[in-house]
Order: sequence, then C-alpha cells, then structure tokens
Amino acid sequence: MAVLDGRQVAESIQAETAAEVAKLKSERGIVPGLAVIMAGDDPASRSYVGSKSRLAEKLGIRSELVKLPADVSLAELLRILAEKNADPGIHAILVQMPLPAGLDPWAVIDRIDPAKDADAFHPANQGLILQNRGRVYPCTPLGVMRLLDHYAIDPAGMNAAVVGRSFLVGKPMAAMLSNRNATVTLCHSRTLGLAAILREAQLVVAAVGKPGFISAEMVKPGAVLVDVGINHVDKEADFEKFCPPSLYESFKKKGSVITGDIHYQAFAKATHYTPVPGGVGPLTVAMLMHNTVELCKRSISVTRDA
Ligand code: NAP
Repeated sequence: MAVLDGRQVAESIQAETAAEVAKLKSERGIVPGLAVIMAGDDPASRSYVGSKSRLAEKLGIRSELVKLPADVSLAELLRILAEKNADPGIHAILVQMPLPAGLDPWAVIDRIDPAKDADAFHPANQGLILQNRGRVYPCTPLGVMRLLDHYAIDPAGMNAAVVGRSFLVGKPMAAMLSNRNATVTLCHSRTLGLAAILREAQLVVAAVGKPGFISAEMVKPGAVLVDVGINHVDKEADFEKFCPPSLYESFKKKGSVITGDIHYQAFAKATHYTPVPGGVGPLTVAMLMHNTVELCKRSISVTRDA
C-alpha cells in the first residue's frame, strides 16, 4: 500500500502557480486577483478562508477577503458580488459555503460571473464539465484528478465508486472520472447495497462527512482509496473507533484530531490511499490558486481576442 501524498503534489502545484504569477507580472504587468466572500463566522470556514488568503499571498496572488455578518441580506451580498464581478483587478471569486441559514445559495451562485468562477459553482461551468468541455473545475475533484495523474493512476476502464453527490465534490468528481473513461457509480444516502458496490470498486472516492464510514470489509483488495472527508473527532470513544492509535498522543494534546471517511484499517487492503490530513485537503487550496491564475490568463486572451 502506497500513500498518495497530497502535500507533496500540492507543493509542486504551488511552485508551478507561483512561476505563472511571476510570468504574468513580468511579461504583462498583471497580478492575478482572488476575492473570497464569506458571510457569517463558521469556525471551519474561517480557518479555510485564512489558509486560502495566506497561500495566495505566498504565491504572489492579490487576495481580497470580504467578511460579512451572518445576518447580511441577500441584496447586500449580491451587490458586493456584482462589484467583484465588475472589478477588472479581480479574476476569480469564491463565495465560501455554507452560507448562513436564510441565504439561498443558488440565488448567489447564479450571479457569480462564470468567467470568474473560482470553484466552478455556476451551472454553466458545471454543465460544461458534464459535456466534457469544462473550462474551470471545482477545486477538490480537480485536486483528486491531479493526484491520480501524478501517481500515474489512470481511471480509464476502472470501476469507480464515488460516495457523496454534492455539487461541489461528488457530482463533478463522478463526471470528471467518467470523462476520463472510468465506469462510475455515484452513491448517496439512499443507495441500496452500498457495501456490495464498494466491494466491486477499483477506485473509491469518499466525500460523505462521516468518520470511518467506509470500513475495511467494504473495500476490494487492491483498490485505490481517495478520502475527501474531513471529520473532527473530539470524543475519546470516537477516537478509539475511528482513529489509529498512533495519533493518540496528538489527540490528547490538542483535544481533537481530523480523520477521513474511510476507516484507517481499510488502507492495508489498498494499493494506494490518501491520508487525512495530508491527502486531498492541501490539494483543494492549491487548485484554488491554480484556478485563479487560469481564469486570469483566460481573461487576458478574451480581451486580446475581442
Ligand atoms: P455534503 O454536501 O454534506 O454531502 C454529503 C454527501 O454524503 C451527500 O451526497 C449525502 O447523500 C452522502 N451521504 C450521507 N450519508 C450517507 C450514507 N449513509 N451513505 C451514502 N452516502 C451518504 O458534503 P460535501 O460538501 O460533499 O463534503 C463531504 C465531506 O468532504 C465533508 O467531510 C467535507 O468536510 C469534506 N470536504 C473536504 C474537502 C477537502 O478539501 N478535503 C473539500 C470539500 C469537502 P444525500 O445526497 O443523499 O444526502
């Protein structure tokens, strides 16, 4: 069993991106700009948004963080979004999800300029992915594809099971694997016979949000296991159920650890697996920077071609 090292691949994507940023600056005098709009004060979102801003800065991308109160009105959020859509210094926009209860996410997503859509939220971008002519891809599934490519794991012909069907992870992941000629089963909470489906899968992508949800018994020997799940475990009983004893010291020290959706005991049956943390997570943020630069480059070629 080999580890798919997301941190290492993320570092190489960051280096590539920083080089592109430097080239845009020196050759065109353009600094790619990313706007992150966050409403409310969800602690997980705050930490994600912080790491996005820090990485953008490190790579030379100009990043703007717009923090709005949890009770911001839809009209005000849309006004700010329209401002960023119209700002020529902003090439990519990310509205941090989830939005506070009461704000309809679709009403916001529909108003993101598809040409500045950093995480491919907009239906036009998702539709293009389904038609296998995507221009921008959601960061997490794009990171998974980059990871598989880095380790020369070709999904073509594989039986792949994607567990979770969110519009940001599971659905585009399934479409992207199908575009790369995998035979995909997209599973969700109403799937019957999930264990039997997983036992036939040569590639499993888990994006459920339940610690240790996929057990060793559900995994085909020799499978490739990709774990998108991020679950915070802070109870001793849960730690014992879901986490490897090697993390106990860290759990005691910090009071919690992060673990994935695939039980660690399943790794022994896999040829390759992603650890949590250190697997898909670092790639998601790296791909956001990649997407920002891609959208910036595309905006230049659109201006030039016009
Ligand atoms: P989500 O929108 O909550 O979707 C969860 C999916 O899991 C749903 O499709 C749901 O099915 C399915 N599900 C729930 N219970 C199930 C069950 N018993 N059997 C089969 N499927 C079940 O979550 P998300 O935004 O896709 O995120 C999923 C996980 O990935 C979370 O832990 C999140 O924190 C993590 N995440 C990580 C990254 C990263 O960078 N590593 C990025 C994004 C998300 P239904 O559709 O039927 O409800």
